[in-house]
Amino acid sequence: MEQSSSTLRAIPSIGQLLDMPAAQRLAGAYSPTMAAEALRVAADALRSQILAGQHIQPDAERIINDAQALLQQGQQMSHRPVINATGVLLHTNLGRAPMAECAAEAAKQAALHYTNLEFDCATGSRGDRLGPIQRVLRDITGAEDALVVNNNAAAMLLVLSAIAKGQVVVVSRGELVEIGGSFRVPDVMAQSGCTLVEVGTTNKTRLSDYERAIGEQTAALMKVHCSNYQIVGFTESVSVSALSELAHQRNLPMIYDLGSGALLPLAPYGLRDEPSVRDSLAQGADVVCFSGDKLLGGPQAGIVLGKAKYIAAMKKHPLMRALRADKMTLAALEATLRLYRDDALAAKRIPLYGMLQQTEGYLAQRAEALLGLLPSSIRAVCDVVPCQAQVGGGSAPGEMLPSMAVSVAPTDMPLNTLYLRLINQDTPIIARIHQDRLLLDMRTVRSHEIAPLAQSLTTILTEKEHP
Ligand SMILES: *Cc1c(COP(=O)(O)O)cnc(C)c1O
Repeated sequence: MEQSSSTLRAIPSIGQLLDMPAAQRLAGAYSPTMAAEALRVAADALRSQILAGQHIQPDAERIINDAQALLQQGQQMSHRPVINATGVLLHTNLGRAPMAECAAEAAKQAALHYTNLEFDCATGSRGDRLGPIQRVLRDITGAEDALVVNNNAAAMLLVLSAIAKGQVVVVSRGELVEIGGSFRVPDVMAQSGCTLVEVGTTNKTRLSDYERAIGEQTAALMKVHCSNYQIVGFTESVSVSALSELAHQRNLPMIYDLGSGALLPLAPYGLRDEPSVRDSLAQGADVVCFSGDKLLGGPQAGIVLGKAKYIAAMKKHPLMRALRADKMTLAALEATLRLYRDDALAAKRIPLYGMLQQTEGYLAQRAEALLGLLPSSIRAVCDVVPCQAQVGGGSAPGEMLPSMAVSVAPTDMPLNTLYLRLINQDTPIIARIHQDRLLLDMRTVRSHEIAPLAQSLTTILTEKEHP
């Protein structure tokens, strides 16, 4: 006790600390107030440690170093890039699709400058915010007209509010989807002020079920893509063309929530095809909507395509203003969509398709490259193992992509500790734990991330003592 109170008295005051050259440098680099506050926090922490009985020298240098570390931590953005080693390509918690270079550049330019967002440079008068993107969307999908909102949930809300408010929409019981984060089709319908009429059963819905449900109050027939689950076995559902035909006979629009909205076929990547945007329109859907950041590989956005009269009603709707996308999103989306004027170009430039394209041989090579960067002194058993990646993000449900991982089994650290230490790196690394091993799935690890990943593993697994 004697010992600790004399040690406590030896802690320099904040004023004394601030007079020292090292602290002066901190005050210059940040600000005198920030430096003083950090020194106070560091000194308090030291005081608590000494009171807790730790034998620590209360020297000024240590407090100033701690204060510097605190200031550096405070500078770090909490929103930052992470290394996705989960093998889930469209991980909603990790921001879904990484964008193409040209899309990121377009967003950056839009952010840094004034833009012609609502200004027509040809006439010098007010322009249409959605004009340019409409033209590209019409070009690449063949749709009559198009609009863009904040995300696909917003798109559904707008579509239903503009087309069916106060009326009835008919949907199959097998398609009442819940997307993660409490987005449920029936709830969106209620929010849009329309009444849901469910038809058929969970596993089987026939055309006659829709037919019988149509009445005076019916405003639309709707189809929702089961984007995050599969109904297998004894099943039946109605095709886009059959449902559209029925809708048109009754003078109703057919609305289709595609979820992912693939513009490229997925079969070349060994996946079952998702409903295609172009085909859905060609088969008669009057309005389709989908996300910008799922299989499209662009920014978060909701894209609505379809017959001009329905799109016009949506544009005039008061919700349009509340749900509209900003200039950075529109710039990034336009750049992404332009790539789709040539499917091969899109597949080459959009990172998602690059990741899908990697063969197991190539993935194994990259896993070996990571393994090769780890020193022999590392305290873990590391191997290259086959594993299963997945598309995720409400796309290609239930389908597994063969992949390759580096598996890490630490020799003197609990697996969960390693998992958490990886997350606590300056660039957090998100791995996955599978059967008593930590897996780093190479399908979602980008090439430039292999070296920093190896560095982090080395740091964590060669430290003298694990705290
Ligand atoms: C993902 C998805 C949504 C929601 O899209 P967000 O862009 O995340 O708002 C809506 N409907 C379906 C069928 C989906 O798959």
